[in-house]
Amino acid sequence: MIIRFAPSPTGLLHLGHAYSALVAWDMARAEGGRFLLRIEDIDRPRCRAEYEAAIYEDLRWLGLDWPAPVWRQSARMAAYEAALARLAQMGLTYPCSCSRSDIRAALSAPQEGAARGGPDGPLYPGTCRGRSMAERRPGDAIRLDMRAVARHLGGRVLAFTETGARHAGRHRIGAADLAGLGDIVLARRDIGTSYHLAVVVDDAAQGITHVVRGRDLFAATPIHVLLQHLLGLPTPIYHHHRLIRDENGKRLAKRDGARALATLRAQGVSPAQIRRRLGLPAG
Ligand code: GLU
Repeated sequence: MIIRFAPSPTGLLHLGHAYSALVAWDMARAEGGRFLLRIEDIDRPRCRAEYEAAIYEDLRWLGLDWPAPVWRQSARMAAYEAALARLAQMGLTYPCSCSRSDIRAALSAPQEGAARGGPDGPLYPGTCRGRSMAERRPGDAIRLDMRAVARHLGGRVLAFTETGARHAGRHRIGAADLAGLGDIVLARRDIGTSYHLAVVVDDAAQGITHVVRGRDLFAATPIHVLLQHLLGLPTPIYHHHRLIRDENGKRLAKRDGARALATLRAQGVSPAQIRRRLGLPAG
């Protein structure tokens, strides 16, 4: 069993991150597996070195350790480009020059009907579908052409296993599910890759067997399973855990400084108290 915790250094870790890291750690320990840390820093402008340093400090304080070197996604761009080139070669991608406001405008046009939402927000209306990769211009994003994907799959149903409490079981991904994902962005115009592509490439490259993460990412999992299939990569077992909420039931966000682990630590809270507060067994 190889498990990873994969935070983005865009803010201080809070109790929700602690929960995710500790659940993954406990699972790896229970099975004699390995726990890896991966820094997901593709969104360079939003990432900061001091947040990355704080991740190491907070996790060590919680009692975790991990093998070196720690993979940083910013150093893995060549691998993401290779995966993108492979999908392009399969005829499954197209370049897209639409801005967010172009997409909003196209979606509000009467003939488009009600905008449906996918895991990444409103479904892309397909304005640039039909452009060829040869027409790619600097500043274009690259999208996955779900119609071409459906043709490629020819009715084949994909599947993954989930072990998290809410959605436990085997999940099938058929043609209607794929259509419901929309033409997702594989490479953003600004960073040249995307969360979906990078996470799939790296989970496979690191031999991750179990993906442990928050329930908010359950809806994105069919995208990951699809990309794994298209790229000839194995599908790990997924475990989406509950989200940690504040006393008003709101999901914790990185801007909630009061619940940052660094703040709690400075207030004298111990790692054992953090575990108790999160309903986790003593470490
Ligand atoms: N980097 C993502 C985050 O911080 C986690 C991605 C994942 O676990 O798949 O939300």
